[in-house]
Formats: sequence, C-alpha cells, structure tokens
Amino acid sequence: MNLLNGRKTARLLEENLKVRVEELKEKYGRVPKLVVVIVGNNPASLSYVRSKEKASRRVGINGETIRLDEHTTQAELLEVVYRLNCDLEVDGFIVQLPLPKHIDENIILNAIDSKKDVDGLSLLNAGKLMNRQKGLVPATPKGIMMLLEHYNVEFRGKYAVVVGRSNIVGCPMAKLLTNADATVTIAHRYTTDLAYFTKQADILVVATGVVNLITKEMVKKGAIVVDVGINRVNGKIVGDVDFENVKEVASMITPVPGGVGPMTISALIHNVVEAFLESHEKTV
Ligand code: NDP
Repeated sequence: MNLLNGRKTARLLEENLKVRVEELKEKYGRVPKLVVVIVGNNPASLSYVRSKEKASRRVGINGETIRLDEHTTQAELLEVVYRLNCDLEVDGFIVQLPLPKHIDENIILNAIDSKKDVDGLSLLNAGKLMNRQKGLVPATPKGIMMLLEHYNVEFRGKYAVVVGRSNIVGCPMAKLLTNADATVTIAHRYTTDLAYFTKQADILVVATGVVNLITKEMVKKGAIVVDVGINRVNGKIVGDVDFENVKEVASMITPVPGGVGPMTISALIHNVVEAFLESHEKTV
C-alpha cells in the first residue's frame, strides 16, 4: 500500500508556487492577494482560516483575513463582498462556510465576482465546470486531482465512485473525474447497497462526514481510496474510511489528517495565482 501523502505533496507544490509568485512580483510589481472573510467564531472555521493564512505566508502571497461579528447582517456581508469585488488589489477572496443561519449562503456566494471566486462556488464557475470551460474549480476536488496526478494515477477508462454529492466536494469531484475520462457513479445517503458500487471502484472518493462508513469489505483489492472526511472523535480527527483495515486492500490511500486537507489549502492558493494571472493577462 502506498500512502497518498497530501502534506508532503502540498509542500512540494507550494515550493513551485513560491517561485512562480516571485516571478510575478518581478513582472507585475506586486504579489497576488487573497482575502478570507469569516463571520462568527466557529472553531473549525477559525482553524481552517489560520491554515489559509499560514499557507499564504509560505507561498509569499498577500493574505488578509476580515473577521466579522456573528450578528453581521446579510446586507452588511454583501457590502463587504461588493467592496472586495471592486478592490483592484484583491485577486481572490472567499467567504468561509458555514455562515450563520440568518444569512443565505447562495445569495452571498453568487454575489462574489466569478473572476475572484477562488472557492469556485458561484453558479458561473460551477456552470463552467459542468460545460468543461476554464474557470475556478472548488479547492478540495481540485486538490484531490492534483494529489492523484502527482502520484501518476491514471483516470482514463477507470471506474470511479464518489460517495457524497455536495456542491463543495462530491459533485465537482465527480465532474473532474468524468472530464479526466473516468466512468463515474455518485452515491449518497439514499443509494441502495452502497457496497455494490464501492466494491467495483478503481478509484473511490469518500466525502460524507460519516465515521468509518467505508470498511475493508466494501473496497476492491488494489483500489485507490481518497478519504475527504474530517470528523472529530474523542478529540482526534478521523475520516470516513476505516483506514487501518482498508489500507490492507487499497493500493493507495490518503491518511486523515495529512491527506486531502493540506491539498485543499494548496489548491486554494493555486486558484489565487490563477485569478491573478487571468486579470493581468487582460489588463497588461
Ligand atoms: P455535506 O454534509 O454537504 O455532504 C455530505 C454528503 O454525504 C451528502 O451528499 C450526503 O448524502 C452523503 N451521505 C451522508 N451520509 C451518507 C451515507 N450513510 N451513505 C452515503 N452517503 C452519505 O458534506 P461536505 O461534502 O461538505 O463534506 C463531507 C466531509 O468532508 C465532511 O466530513 C467535511 O468535514 C469534509 N471536508 C473536508 C475537506 C478537506 O479539506 N479535507 C473540505 C470539505 C469538506 P445526501 O446528499 O443524500 O444527504
């Protein structure tokens, strides 16, 4: 079994990005800028935001965090989004999810200028992915593709199963795998006999938030298994896959933590550099 080491791969990709950022600074006189907007004090969100700040520093891009009170209204948050849309110094920004219940996530996400939407969650970027057009792709599935490509995983003609169908992970993941010429099934909580599908998968991506959903008996020998889940159990972070037993049958598998998480952050920074390049190609 080979470990798909996201932490190591992310650092390697970040080293390359750092060189690229230095070149951009030389050429355009400034580095790309990412702004992260966070509303409230959700501990998990605060921890993700800190990881993004650290990654920005490692790669040498300009990172800023805007912290807003949990009682911020939807109108106030929209004002912040409109300001960032117009700020020529900001190349990409994200509004950290989840948002407090009184704010409609879809309204906020769709107010973000699609060229600065480095989380790739606006309707325009989702539509571009659906139509196989160039756009900004959600960081987690993008990071997973970068990880699998780094380990020379072949997609063409392979059977892939994605468990989970969220807009953030499952659906864009399935589309990226389809675009890479895999044959893809999306499973979800109403899938009858989940194991029937997972047992046939050459590539299995699991993004459900259900601890130990995938057991050894549900995995084909030699399969490549990607565990996206982040679950806190007794103070420990675990995924959706029974790692200790599944690693006995998988040919490659991501650990949790240290698999998909660091790749998500790298893919986000990658998107910021991409957004910077897009805007500068147009204006220079
Ligand atoms: P969502 O809750 O939005 O989606 C979960 C999906 O899993 C849904 O489509 C749901 O089906 C499906 N599901 C739930 N239970 C089952 C089941 N028993 N059998 C099959 N499918 C099931 O979560 P996200 O997609 O946002 O995140 C998934 C996990 O990945 C979470 O643990 C999250 O913390 C983690 N995550 C990790 C990231 C990283 O960087 N490593 C980034 C983003 C998320 P249905 O649609 O029918 O309800």
